[in-house]
Amino acid sequence: MIDKVADIGRGVLSGVRVSRVQAMELAVAAGEEPFELFYWACRVRTGRFANAVKLCSIAPGKLGGCSEDCKWCAQSTAGCTPKPATRTRPELVDLCKAARAAATNGAGSFGIVNSGRRPSGKDLQAVIDVSQEIADDEAVPVSLCASLGELTPDEAARLFSAGVRTYNHNLETSRRHFPNVVTTHTYDDRLETLRAVKSAGMRICCGGIFGIGESWEDRIDLALTLRDEVRADVVPLNFLHPIPGTPLGGAQPLRPMEILGIIAVYRLILPEADLKVAGGREVNLRDLQSWMFHVGATSCLIGNYLTTPGRDAGDDLRMIADLGLKVVANLPQAR
Ligand code: SF4
Repeated sequence: MIDKVADIGRGVLSGVRVSRVQAMELAVAAGEEPFELFYWACRVRTGRFANAVKLCSIAPGKLGGCSEDCKWCAQSTAGCTPKPATRTRPELVDLCKAARAAATNGAGSFGIVNSGRRPSGKDLQAVIDVSQEIADDEAVPVSLCASLGELTPDEAARLFSAGVRTYNHNLETSRRHFPNVVTTHTYDDRLETLRAVKSAGMRICCGGIFGIGESWEDRIDLALTLRDEVRADVVPLNFLHPIPGTPLGGAQPLRPMEILGIIAVYRLILPEADLKVAGGREVNLRDLQSWMFHVGATSCLIGNYLTTPGRDAGDDLRMIADLGLKVVANLPQAR
């Protein structure tokens, strides 16, 4: 197994793409030889990105009251109690303030996130107004992102014109496992939005959530779809933080070493993507949080999440400095 992982690692370093068979071998290595896997993931990360790390921050424009039934999500109204309050109109001042705080914390990107399957005309216009305000403010040097659910090509083009440069729309898991955790819309609905985003010229931020009953095969299928079909620029990796009252509220959280194995396997399959560790980091990785960069991550969320608090931004900045890593606004281009 050690030799197999080394062969795959050397291949990735020389520009060879990991095959599906090799990807499943890496998944086995995550359980049997994790430190060998971590070593090669670290070499691939440093070979492509040196010691650079990017930070991103998010804030809700609309929270709660979502008609969709994603089983992990506290914002769904389907089988989820208690329900958070819904705020339907982004407050310009709040979001501008949040964008300024994100920049102060070293975040190179700031994302506005709305609950719901797709934005209403009024909600989309509100996000466009806020985005233009932030994009025009030279004192807030952040790249703008949005995550508003499904978009038409015309809506995607309007967001791009307002200064939004990256759009987040996660596939969450494999096509096979998706209907087990979401029934109110389909995998193809999500892919259609991703095509609209790409054609509008925005960068694609698309990843998944782990610990929702998926198998390693599902994780590999998602990674290959992100690489070969979606061609994601940024791949956020979320790890279930079970929220009481949601259908997955009683799920067993993933062990820290399994999470590190997922990050490492994704690094080898997606050597050029910005791998972003997002929701569930603190609660699931605990003392092993700093390892996320050693095993291949290139960025993480800083500050609060949408419905749960994150840890103090100063603690994350100190952790990054202690690791000898450097926060940058933009990651180096792949060689
Ligand atoms: S993940 Fe998004 S679409 Fe799914 S229930 Fe939560 S807010 Fe709605």
